[in-house]
Amino acid sequence: ETFDVIAMARTAVTSFSRSYERHITVQSREDSLLYHGDKEKLKQVIYILLDNALKYSDSDVTVRVMEGDTNIELSVDDHGPGIPKEEQPKIFDRFYRLDKARSRTTGGTGLGLSIAWAIIHAHQGTISIESEPPNGTSFIIDLPK
Ligand code: ATP
Repeated sequence: ETFDVIAMARTAVTSFSRSYERHITVQSREDSLLYHGDKEKLKQVIYILLDNALKYSDSDVTVRVMEGDTNIELSVDDHGPGIPKEEQPKIFDRFYRLDKARSRTTGGTGLGLSIAWAIIHAHQGTISIESEPPNGTSFIIDLPK
C-alpha cells in the first residue's frame, strides 16, 4: 500500500510519547513523503527503535525522515551510552543483548532488532548503526523508493 512515511512516524511518536512521557521529535524538510510498502510492519520497526532509544537513554530522542533521489532515509537518534564498534555487527542477531547486567534491569528478549532487520530487508532496504560511545546512537534505515 502507498502511505505517507512522515504521518506514519508522527503517529508512532505520538502514541509513544503518551505512554513514556519523554520528549520525542520528528524532523523532516518535507511535509509528506509517499512510500509503497507494508505500513504496519514499518511502523513496528519505528516502535522497536523508539522503544530501544527510550530504554537505553534518558534524554531527547529524534526521528528524522529524509528524501533522496532514489531512497527514503529514516533515522532514530538518541543520546544514550552508544554501542561499541565491536558489538555493532552482532546487535541484529536474534537474542543478542549487550551488557547483560544493564539489559536485565531494562528487560527485553533481544529480538527487537532482528525483527526490524528482517522487515527492512523484506523491503529491499538496509538498516545500519552510527555510534561513537559515549555519544549516543543513530539507527539509520535506507529504503529504496
Ligand atoms: P527487545 O527484544 O525487547 O527489543 P532488547 O532491547 O534487548 O529486547 P534488541 O532491540 O534486539 O533487544 O536490542 C539488542 C541489544 O542492543 C539491546 O539489548 C541493547 O544492549 C542494544 N541496544 C539496542 N538499541 C540500543 C540503543 N539505542 N542504545 C544502546 N544500546 C542499544
